[in-house]
Amino acid sequence: MSSPKKRKRRFFIADEGSIKSGQVTDVYFPRALEVIVREKADANVTAEVRAASLPDGYPWAILAGVEELAFLFQGCPVAVDCLQEGTVFYSEEPVAVFRGKYSQFGHLETALLGLLCQAGGIATKAARCKKAADDRVVMNFGARRMHPALAPMIDRCAYLGGCDSVAVVESARMLDLVPSGTIPHSLVLLMGDTVKAATAFHQVMPEGVPRIILIDTFADEKFETLRVAEALGEKLAAVRLDTPSSRRGDMLKMLQEVRWELDIRGFDHVKLLVSGGLDEPEIHRLNPFADGYGVGTAISNAPVINFSLDIVEIGGQPLAKKGKRSGGKRMLRCQKCGNREVTPRNTGITKCLCGGSRVDLLEPLSSSGKIVRHLPNLQEIREFVLRQLDGLELDAGTRTEEIPG
Ligand SMILES: [Zn+2]
Repeated sequence: MSSPKKRKRRFFIADEGSIKSGQVTDVYFPRALEVIVREKADANVTAEVRAASLPDGYPWAILAGVEELAFLFQGCPVAVDCLQEGTVFYSEEPVAVFRGKYSQFGHLETALLGLLCQAGGIATKAARCKKAADDRVVMNFGARRMHPALAPMIDRCAYLGGCDSVAVVESARMLDLVPSGTIPHSLVLLMGDTVKAATAFHQVMPEGVPRIILIDTFADEKFETLRVAEALGEKLAAVRLDTPSSRRGDMLKMLQEVRWELDIRGFDHVKLLVSGGLDEPEIHRLNPFADGYGVGTAISNAPVINFSLDIVEIGGQPLAKKGKRSGGKRMLRCQKCGNREVTPRNTGITKCLCGGSRVDLLEPLSSSGKIVRHLPNLQEIREFVLRQLDGLELDAGTRTEEIPG
């Protein structure tokens, strides 16, 4: 055994090479492959990704991680079809399909599911928070709850799911966004006073940085807000209330009071941002007086989508384990009424009962190791998600809404 002293100091993260080459795999895949090769049991298979159910009773979810999936399969001689990134999907619907020799991609199952399960979970939670906020601003503040190596992935999924901004500098750099944030408690503590901190921040920061001041560090939220508003005047964009739960009381009443006191003094341009342990129910409750939210753990630690990858055809013949429907499938959506149906692939694209024409949402992503689809940029994906959210509810029972393509 090597002594702990000799162990290399490092972050325990896998690099791109080991992920793409299938080293990040459960050991039973390479072991199975050894047997398959020796027994000459390798075959052309069709395997599909779908979720038998969605977390927390969600009626719908958002597919994310497609760009990383495309990267994973770049150079892998397998045909991959999948939904567009950002597409709303439901339980039991196939979201991605792989066709090729099992030996070419079986070892990638762990990685491909990991990419899609976590990304979809975060994007879906972000979409739900944005929906709950009813057009108010939602900022992802959740990077600090997760391994920093994942921050750009988490921020990407949060943003495409509907968050208005990301806070982490490296995420913003990688995603071509401008990072946004407020000020930390540490600044107020070090300056010794909220107004001193606000004034210094205002003097030091360039014009383009919004003056959003944290007002819950030392004293009462109402009086601190008014002091900051008097000091910065029209330059004050917003105040942030991050009051600890032990001191919070009724946040809605606090917001209402702060709003009243600002308005009565002509500071109606000052927005109210809330952060600290927020999730959908609290967002709903605070909407009457909050203008925006910083959401942390609820988004970055969102429940994952429990996708599975299942073989549904071997050598062109339908075959699946019990509990799963065999055969290649289409994921059809009516362009007229929005109705959705999973149909056998070999029946072609039939018309909807309403007479409308249908499209197969499972479109080619990669073929013979080459990406064959235009991968939309982050803004395009986010706008696509927001358009779909318009026709959806947070609770079950809205499956056949018109969903703009
Ligand atoms: Zn229809």
